[in-house]
Amino acid sequence: MKPAEIPQLLAQIALADPRVRREDPIEMRAQIQMWAGILADVPPDFALHAAQQHYATSTWPILPAEIATRWQAVVRDRMNRDVGTFEPQPGLDPDDVPGYLTALREQRQAVVYGQQPPAEVRAITAGPAAAEAVRRVAQLGDYLTTETRTALAPYRPIAAARLQAAQTGQPDALAVACPVHTCRAAPGQPCQRPSRRHGRHRLTEPHPSRTETAATTDPERTSA
Ligand SMILES: [Zn+2]
Repeated sequence: MKPAEIPQLLAQIALADPRVRREDPIEMRAQIQMWAGILADVPPDFALHAAQQHYATSTWPILPAEIATRWQAVVRDRMNRDVGTFEPQPGLDPDDVPGYLTALREQRQAVVYGQQPPAEVRAITAGPAAAEAVRRVAQLGDYLTTETRTALAPYRPIAAARLQAAQTGQPDALAVACPVHTCRAAPGQPCQRPSRRHGRHRLTEPHPSRTETAATTDPERTSA
């Protein structure tokens, strides 16, 4: 929302809750500035809708943070459902990298603002062949066969653990940094513990709290 759109929102909210209205001009200006800063990314229609939802169940004055939080939840949900595949577009030269990036950004924005539905991978793999496709991917892996991966697993434990997580629908612990303070492994790096003489000992399994973090972490925040 732009600052110019805030007074109208506040006026509409004041119809349900006169407490949000500021009478003092200086206070009013400060309030508009504050709300505009917090709601910068939120579309006006959504802000009003969120306020209506708030007052449908609450007698407390609404805070701009509640509107922003509701909006972030919507964005997160849309981006989580969007697999991020980029559809080829007529007129876009495949070698035009800046053009591709612009188009990709526009596509994501369209998903965030609800102008375009999220591209869900299930839509592509749905139908009678879906089970067969899943079975084959599970059997074949992608570039290496599962048999090859299994044979290589002792030599590449990190990749093996990530593959196993993906195949069993477990959270990919290595996608996030480890929260254990003696470890603090960066994303993509295996967990570790201090060994004697200030060395580091790599662990084959991620710390359980890292797996928990991966399960609750919003992928959009780490990839944006
Ligand atoms: Zn760790």
